[in-house]
Amino acid sequence: MNEPMESATCIFCAIIGGRAPAHRVYEDDRILIFMDLFPAHEGHTLIVPKRHGENLFEVEAEDLDAIIRASVALGAALNRVFSPDGIAVMQLNGEAAGQTVFHYHMHLIPRLTGEPFGVHGKNQADDAVLADQAARLAAAYTPTR
Ligand code: 5GP
Ligand code: ZN
Repeated sequence: MNEPMESATCIFCAIIGGRAPAHRVYEDDRILIFMDLFPAHEGHTLIVPKRHGENLFEVEAEDLDAIIRASVALGAALNRVFSPDGIAVMQLNGEAAGQTVFHYHMHLIPRLTGEPFGVHGKNQADDAVLADQAARLAAAYTPTR
């Protein structure tokens, strides 16, 4: 598959295409990393393939490889910037599994010992806070080779 695939109604395709705002951390020809707008914890980030695929079972294997590699690099950057006790790396497939945006995405959620766990935050994050976090993560991010 050589042509980028895009869905006209998809918010993540709009972010990838620059038609909707997001606080970007890193991108290359396959993936984009940006801050989650409703973070479950500070530093909550999403890795998405640039080619639209609804879930794990629709995304190209090469894009999945790139996302797993990026999760290693992003995890290292999150550790440097936020020093969490752990990092949840997860993704949801289908409404029944809790998926709410139907463009595949990997969540990286820094975690603290003893904190109640959730994938979805309740409140929209402050724009300036997300901008600052994205800039710090971008500076700390070293792509995996
Ligand atoms: P899902 O439930 O599909 O696994 O997760 C979707 C994630 O996307 C949620 O964590 C939600 O906060 C985040 N999200 C939804 N809409 C937007 C948006 O417009 N911009 C950003 N940056 N994140 C979004
Ligand atoms: Zn999409």
